[in-house]
Amino acid sequence: MVSTATPAPTAGSPSRTSLGPGPDVLVRRRAADFDRPGRGRFTQPAWARPVNRALRGASTVLCADTDERVVALTYDDGPDPEQTPALLDVLARRSIRATFFVLVEHAEAHPGIVRRALDEGHEVELHGIDHTRLSALGTRAAVARVREGKDRLEQVTGRPVRFFRPPYGAQTLPQAVGFRALGLELVLWSGWAQDWVHDEVPAVAGRIVRPFRPGAVILLHDTRGDPDVGDPTEVPRFSRAEALSHALDLLSAGGAAEPWDYATVGQLLADRPAVRAVWAETSSRRRSR
Ligand SMILES: [Zn+2]
Repeated sequence: MVSTATPAPTAGSPSRTSLGPGPDVLVRRRAADFDRPGRGRFTQPAWARPVNRALRGASTVLCADTDERVVALTYDDGPDPEQTPALLDVLARRSIRATFFVLVEHAEAHPGIVRRALDEGHEVELHGIDHTRLSALGTRAAVARVREGKDRLEQVTGRPVRFFRPPYGAQTLPQAVGFRALGLELVLWSGWAQDWVHDEVPAVAGRIVRPFRPGAVILLHDTRGDPDVGDPTEVPRFSRAEALSHALDLLSAGGAAEPWDYATVGQLLADRPAVRAVWAETSSRRRSR
């Protein structure tokens, strides 16, 4: 894996960060924005409002700032022995490389799937030891958990963990600072397929396609790690591989003049400025969903 973790300061780009070519763009967004099927770049005026620059150090990557038709597919909560191998088959057939934000307990239980994903060019990054909502913990406990998760995942993958996506995207500001101090880049998403609840494959596929925009980071799941299932009819039973296949067919059937390219998160951000936001819950004692 190519390491771009070392900052390479460039004259004239004072706001450049440790990721690829800068300057990165800091925006103000709310969770509700993600449900709006917007168009165009994420940094258009509606979203690119000024943010306190002092908070940049605690900011989180949402996506890339680009006009290129490239997206990063990201799969959370796995690996899952029922779903992930078939998903890897689809990705291999379509020559797509994705980023898997895994739960360490699942990675340790299925190291062969992790190895296969790495061997096939995918990224395996950290989602958590388990699906605990970190914002419900104190800062020190949360950072200690993430440090342990990083160490344990590196034991499984044999390579450094670069990216971290907290479960539910839930973190406090001091926690975000602490996670970044571990050398982790925080990565959320710019759109999702709401595939944590059951639905028919064509419906899920439609929701995978909807957030496609230049530079998008799309949140998907190869299993459901959230233990708080609630309504049992919501537990997903559809095939993740079929949903992805169907989505890719929809994209090619659309007759788009240009096809989409796919990148891992690391590839997406290596060559393009990141769109970042200060993304944190205001209290460390937030309700759990
Ligand atoms: Zn998750």
